[in-house]
Amino acid sequence: MKARILLIEDNEQNRYMVTFLLQASGHVVTHAGSGPEGIELAKGMKPDLILLDIQLPGMDGYAVAQVLKSDPASRSIPIIAVTSFAMLGDKEKALAAGADGYMEKPINPESFVSEIERFLPPSLAGSAT
Ligand code: MN
Repeated sequence: MKARILLIEDNEQNRYMVTFLLQASGHVVTHAGSGPEGIELAKGMKPDLILLDIQLPGMDGYAVAQVLKSDPASRSIPIIAVTSFAMLGDKEKALAAGADGYMEKPINPESFVSEIERFLPPSLAGSAT
């Protein structure tokens, strides 16, 4: 069994790369291009995991994480924050907002999927064939 992953990301190139890598390992990716859209999808589809870009136009990833983690309907879904700013305190800020994990862009294609799968239950973290 593979995971249903919600990707909240506004950048088309990042979206393409992440989707490609996850699908190549058999995971099912749903995409949202903004924070509000991501929140709505998260509550509707109850994904196994959320990959959350922090730099989103309008509502940023910190705010999205806070909303999702304060709602019992979405609280238990693991969130991995992804940020392109390797800024001091960024990780702490993401974790304080409720993210369960943190990752920096650019992502490493060779280790990306296994890093993601650490946040999935073992039954959903099958390796690529
Ligand atoms: Mn972005």
